[in-house]
Amino acid sequence: MDFALDEGQRLLLDALEGTVKRVSPPERVQRLDNLSAFDADLHRAIADLGVLGLGVPEADGGSGGGPLEQILALEVLGRTATSMAVFLVVHYIAMHLLLDFGNPAQRQAHLPALCRGERKFSFCLTEPGGGTDVLGAIRTSARRQGEGWRLNGTKQWISGAGIADQLIVLARTAEHRTRGLTMFLLPKASPGLRVAERATLGIHGYDTNEVAFEEVELPRAAVLGAANAGFQQVLATLNAERLHAAAVATGIGRGACQVAVAHAKSRAAFGRPIGQFQAVQHRLVRASLAVEAAWLLTLRAAGDAAAGRPAELNTSMAKLAAAEAAVQATQAGMETLAGAGFDLDLPMQRYFRDARLYVFAPITNDMVANFLGERWLGLPRSF
Ligand SMILES: Cc1cc2nc3c(=O)[nH]c(=O)nc-3n(C[C@H](O)[C@H](O)[C@H](O)COP(=O)(O)OP(=O)(O)OC[C@H]3O[C@@H](n4cnc5c(N)ncnc54)[C@H](O)[C@@H]3O)c2cc1C
Repeated sequence: MDFALDEGQRLLLDALEGTVKRVSPPERVQRLDNLSAFDADLHRAIADLGVLGLGVPEADGGSGGGPLEQILALEVLGRTATSMAVFLVVHYIAMHLLLDFGNPAQRQAHLPALCRGERKFSFCLTEPGGGTDVLGAIRTSARRQGEGWRLNGTKQWISGAGIADQLIVLARTAEHRTRGLTMFLLPKASPGLRVAERATLGIHGYDTNEVAFEEVELPRAAVLGAANAGFQQVLATLNAERLHAAAVATGIGRGACQVAVAHAKSRAAFGRPIGQFQAVQHRLVRASLAVEAAWLLTLRAAGDAAAGRPAELNTSMAKLAAAEAAVQATQAGMETLAGAGFDLDLPMQRYFRDARLYVFAPITNDMVANFLGERWLGLPRSF
C-alpha cells in the first residue's frame, strides 16, 4: 500500500499550509478563539484556494478531488485553525448530501454557491433527547399541509447555525421507525425558526446552537431528494463524517505534539532542556506514535473511500484511533507545558479543549467500538 502523495496533493497541502500561515498565524487563531469569533478572512482564503469545493465535480461548481484531498485539508486545518476544520466537516456533510441526494434544481441552487464560499449550511440532527439513539430521540416532526409541510421541534448543539444561511433538518414525517424520516432544506431566515447560541467548552471559533422550529412553513421543494428517505441519507453520510472527524482529530494531535516538542527543546530545568528527561521524552514519543498510527489508518480508509471499496470498518477504526490519540496527545502536551499549558494566550489549552469534541462527535467512541466489536471482531451485537 502506497501512502505517498501525488503532485497535486502535495501542491494542495503546501498551498493550504502557506495560506493559513499568511492569513491566520497562530496568534490570530488564538485571539479569535478567545473572542469566540469565526475567521471570515480564513474562510474567504480557503474558498479562493478551492478547498470548499473539494469532492465536488467541476461540472457542479466544485474543484474536483475526493476523500484523500478532503482529509489532507482537514488535517492541516485541524492542526492550525481547528474551528475552521470543524466548519469544513459540516460544510462537506452538506455538500455530500446535496451532491448525492439533491435533485438537479437543489444541486444547481446550492452547490456552486457553497463551493465559492458564498453560502453556509448547518446540519441539524441531534435533539435534546439524545444524539446516539437518533431514531429513539427524534421528536422534530413535519406534517403535510397542502402541497408543502409544517415543521415543529427543537435541535440541540448544532454547529454553525448562527452563521449559516441554510439548514438541513431531519424530521419525522411518518410512523415507520426507519422509513418515516425526511431531510428538509430551508433558509435560516424562515419565519418561526429561532437560533439560540450555547456556550460550550471548545471550538470557540465556530458557534454551537439550539435551533427551534415553530410551525415553520416549507414548500414541497424543501424535501431533500425523496420524502421518508432521511434515515438512509444519514447512514450514507456516516462514512465520510467518521473519516473527516479522524482527519481533524489527527490534526489536533499533531498540533499538540509539535507545540509540546518545541517547548521540550526550549524550556530548561536543572540546567538542561526538559526534553532531555526520559519522563518527558517517553510521553511525547508515545503520543506522537499514537497520532501517526491514527493518520495511517485515516489514509487507508480514505484510499478505500476514493477507490469505491467498502470503507465502514476502516473509517470506524480511524475515527476511534484518532479521537483517542488526540486526547492522549493533548494530555501529554498539557503535562509537558505545565503552567504554560494553562495560559489562554497559548494554543495548548485550546487543543486540549477542542480534542474533546471528537470523543463523541459525530458519533461517540463507545458507539464506534460497539460497531467494531460486532462487525470487525464478530462479537454479539451489544445494543
Ligand atoms: C460542539 C458540538 C457540536 C455539535 N455539532 C452538531 C451538529 O452540527 N449537528 C448535530 O446534529 N449534532 C451536533 N452535535 C451533537 C453530537 O453529534 C452529539 O453530542 C453526539 O452524537 C452524542 O450524542 P449525545 O451528546 O446526546 O450523547 P448521548 O447519546 O446522550 O450519549 C451519552 C453517553 O452514553 C453512551 N451510550 C449511548 N448509547 C450507548 C450504547 N448503545 N453503548 C455504549 N454506550 C452508549 C455514549 O457513548 C455516551 O458516552 C454537536 C455537539 C457538540 C457538543
